[in-house]
Amino acid sequence: MHRLEVALARVASGQDSLLEQRRSELQADLRHDIHDARGGVDAVQAEDATDDLDTGSVMAQGSLRFSLMHMKGEVLVRIDEALGRIDQGLYGLCQSCGAEISESRLRALPFALRCTRCETRREDAEEAQHAPRVLQRLRSEW
Ligand SMILES: [Zn+2]
Repeated sequence: MHRLEVALARVASGQDSLLEQRRSELQADLRHDIHDARGGVDAVQAEDATDDLDTGSVMAQGSLRFSLMHMKGEVLVRIDEALGRIDQGLYGLCQSCGAEISESRLRALPFALRCTRCETRREDAEEAQHAPRVLQRLRSEW
């Protein structure tokens, strides 16, 4: 077996159960968020929107929550992709350039689909589209 394949197999083993666990946590989390968001909409209509200022801040909170839910959904998609790549034996290879993703990066970000170089390039592109900084920071912590 090629040395690279041995290294990747070693990294991939264990990561799938970690990813499965993260996926079920996120799914539960999202169900909770969606439940909350529904409750929130009712509450806004009932009592919170007493004047324009309140309406504005409630709306801002709502949109931040929506952004977070959107981000969790994105992570969920990436976890699914990572699990698919384990199945295909492609786990640990950059989706963009095919280079090996460093083991330390995969330990920190088990669902990383790109090498640091490609991910940085992609984040720069997102920043150019004015992605909110809070989301970028959260995304890099996940
Ligand atoms: Zn790459």
